[in-house]
Amino acid sequence: MAITKILIANRGEIAVRIVRACAELGIRSVAVFTEPDRYALHVKRADEAYSLGDDPLAGYLNPHHIVNMAVQTGCDALHPGYGFLSENAELAEICAQRGVTFIGPSAEVIRRMGDKTRARQAMIEAGVPVTPGSENNLSGLDEARAEAERVGYPVMLKATSGGGGRGIRRCDNEDELARNYERVVSEATKAFGSADVFLEKCIVDPRHIEVQILADDHGNTIHLFERDCSIQRRNQKLIEIAPSPQLTPEQRTYVGDLAVRAAEAVGYTNAGTVEFLFTGNQVFFMEMNTRVQVEHTITEQITGVDIVREQIRVAAGEPLAHQQSDIRHQGFALQFRINAEDPKNNFLPSFGRISRYYAPGGPGVRVDTAIYTGYTIPPYFDSMCLKLIAWNLSWEGALDRAKRAIHDMRLQGVKTTAPYYLKILDDPGFRSGQFDTGYVDAHPELLNYSEKSNPEEIALAIAAAIAAHTGL
Ligand code: ADP
Ligand code: ADP
Ligand code: MG
Repeated sequence: MAITKILIANRGEIAVRIVRACAELGIRSVAVFTEPDRYALHVKRADEAYSLGDDPLAGYLNPHHIVNMAVQTGCDALHPGYGFLSENAELAEICAQRGVTFIGPSAEVIRRMGDKTRARQAMIEAGVPVTPGSENNLSGLDEARAEAERVGYPVMLKATSGGGGRGIRRCDNEDELARNYERVVSEATKAFGSADVFLEKCIVDPRHIEVQILADDHGNTIHLFERDCSIQRRNQKLIEIAPSPQLTPEQRTYVGDLAVRAAEAVGYTNAGTVEFLFTGNQVFFMEMNTRVQVEHTITEQITGVDIVREQIRVAAGEPLAHQQSDIRHQGFALQFRINAEDPKNNFLPSFGRISRYYAPGGPGVRVDTAIYTGYTIPPYFDSMCLKLIAWNLSWEGALDRAKRAIHDMRLQGVKTTAPYYLKILDDPGFRSGQFDTGYVDAHPELLNYSEKSNPEEIALAIAAAIAAHTGL
């Protein structure tokens, strides 16, 4: 079942990443876009591109329309990327019905693992340790109280279908639980279209460790080691590191094997990530992401395995190109999510026109982005505008290279998280390689940096103010 033409049901840097994999494999790529994205890089770079209509978001979220487009344009496969419909089981089903190969696991596996309570049940059956918590979705506040009492405060109230760090709230006592319950239910309903919530014990200041999995249709499941995503703000990742500088080789082997066991237990195929929380020497399964992840890049840097290429090959029915014993890791890679946000202003999104952009480069530096000078970051999508990846043989060397690469970069017109990352890179706590998910909150002083005043930005701000005032 050869794949010759792929529709990319996504936008931004991940769509560009998939176009690149297609180009290397000699596969034609088809981009789709909504009107605000007409001049986006994925549209320019793909072999063909088609509009999904005027509404900025609706087009990217309509599985029937997108699969129709794949059929009409002669695509034999569809890659969902991350976000949008990537964990939507219906999309995988419609693809199967219409004879389009879905580049990801089966609809059944997506459904099961996308439901965090069902995923937890599957892991318990497989003998994988899960965070102590409710076995099923909560029926109401009374049950939430009883479950919280049973596992002990603090607890995390979580949306069963949640993702992207949303729909999660920590409750330190019964009052907070009562206050947050309806809030999480309503967030879950709004953001994920399901009111289901559950709770689990809050692991205080844990490390977020996740394992990259690859599996084919021939019974092979391997892992590509772990990523440390403990540097987060509001449960959203900012900096990711591979491998984790804080695991022993024994812990690395243990968690890698655990992830393979988790994937095998649910009949997983294609690329996926098993997320765990570590505290001391204890490990708990947290969730599985049934898609390519934003931070797959750093695993590619340390192992040399092209994860998107493997996704496509496996979807075409080919066996994995690698066996577990072939997989080695070398050095350290860090990924910085350069978001169009103002860290000094509570990370407020800063959408707008990129007046100037020079990409960083040099040894060991990789940039995955869809921005260019003159491009306007639309306000409808998430605020990540660039992924800067730095690799080096040693941890210290990787940190120094990351600093150098951030200094290389010029990204003007919008505020970004880049200057904040420079402060983190100078922090002895971060450089020690020992940190947990409480790091960002524990270091508010890192937000005290001075931004270089930039004549071009000042001129633009003055021009904008005059235009606003005069109505020009
Ligand atoms: P990763 O797990 O790859 O690090 P993130 O959690 O940062 O990914 O999410 C990547 C993108 O996918 C973000 O735009 C996020 O908002 C979106 N996303 C993740 N999970 C969901 C979900 N369940 N529903 C809707 N959007 C999601
Ligand atoms: P999402 O689907 O949004 O990625 P996760 O379940 O992966 O949600 O949780 C996101 C982040 O929230 C984790 O990386 C971690 O920092 C925090 N978190 C989630 N569950 C717990 C928990 N039980 N204890 C402590 N922190 C948690
Ligand atoms: Mg997660």
